[in-house]
Amino acid sequence: MARTPVAEHEGRVRALLAPLRTRDAEPVPLAAALGRVLAGAVLSPIDLPPFRNSQMDGFAVVAGDVSPGVSLPVVASIPAAAGAPAPLVAGTVARIMTGAPLPEGADAVVAVEDTVTTEGGWVTIAKAARAGSYVREVGSDLAAGSELLPAGIRLGSRHLAALAAAGITEVAVESRVRLAIISTGSELVAPGDQLGPGQISDSNGPALVAAAREVAAEIVLEGRVVDDREAFEALLVAAIAADAELILTSGGISQGDYEVVRETLEPHGAIVDVLAMQPGGPQAIATYREVPVVCFPGNPVSSQLSFLLFVEPLLREIAGLPDRIRVTRVLDTPLTSVAGKRQFLRGRALPDGRVETVGGPSSHLVAALAAADVLVDLPEDATELPAGASVETWEL
Ligand code: AMP
Ligand code: MG
Repeated sequence: MARTPVAEHEGRVRALLAPLRTRDAEPVPLAAALGRVLAGAVLSPIDLPPFRNSQMDGFAVVAGDVSPGVSLPVVASIPAAAGAPAPLVAGTVARIMTGAPLPEGADAVVAVEDTVTTEGGWVTIAKAARAGSYVREVGSDLAAGSELLPAGIRLGSRHLAALAAAGITEVAVESRVRLAIISTGSELVAPGDQLGPGQISDSNGPALVAAAREVAAEIVLEGRVVDDREAFEALLVAAIAADAELILTSGGISQGDYEVVRETLEPHGAIVDVLAMQPGGPQAIATYREVPVVCFPGNPVSSQLSFLLFVEPLLREIAGLPDRIRVTRVLDTPLTSVAGKRQFLRGRALPDGRVETVGGPSSHLVAALAAADVLVDLPEDATELPAGASVETWEL
């Protein structure tokens, strides 16, 4: 059977999920905005700084009064606090703290380091002062009405600081993609439950939930179900009731006898296919009651890799995150690869741009994947690769 190229399935999934790109904005308070994507540009309602103030602890002066060695009387002390200070009379200075409003009449600040305070409330200034020195002018960071933050950025602490500085307490962010994650397999138990004969812990569920959260999706349902069509369909219905926009499943799409996902979704027009790829050959997509379903094979490496290849890029794009990093590295040891299949090996990045493989090529090696920090992406036509060959790797 001719296997479908990976790129073709990528295109199918992209087309199936295209409607998710059009998202509604949602208002959130600043305290809940960390990591969210700004839906529109935000303009500053005020000037930053909002008033003219001192950049130093020192003395507010009239620059023209100051020459090296001059002594002037200190007539006031201005703290960083509410209120307007009294105007500064020419020929006098006012002690001023960082962030305190400059008194009217003053046009420069002399840093305390450049002064000596003398008896009787006078100060001697060592250097000349230039008008504007150590003065933070109104709007010199950003003028009122100007763009504080552009649309499409993922809000980090520095962005929240800028919003707070401008007095903005709520922003419109893109809604998160709502995912349901369903693990299928009668052999599966919840992690931590006693394993009976033939049973294994569900690792795909936790892996896919975490991988989706890493790219800012919201998990509205996490379920595990035995290989029973009715039970599986009940979880699909529950996922839709939980308002899932996208359902991801693992397991049950291969050529065995109890392929619950395939058997349930084929009557709904699922495309079930085998890709020219290892791990992760079996793949399927479907639409169930108008909700897209992307179905991954059950083996742990296959399902994690499938998410990374087919779903994560779109979620990253929606979340305003950069693409996963790919680096060309050099093989530390020779490799063989299966002709006609794009192969993903688990690797570890070494110093000097080299990479070594970890574990074998099999798709059940969940621990070896955890020991890897890159995936080595070998093209379909690769068969024998010598040490020193350049390979594409994906950072994990
Ligand atoms: P399947 O795709 O259902 O034929 O499953 C392929 C292999 O993956 C089998 O060895 C399953 O036991 C294993 N498997 C399926 N689902 C999971 C899961 N959620 N966690 C860990 N292993 C799984
Ligand atoms: Mg199964």
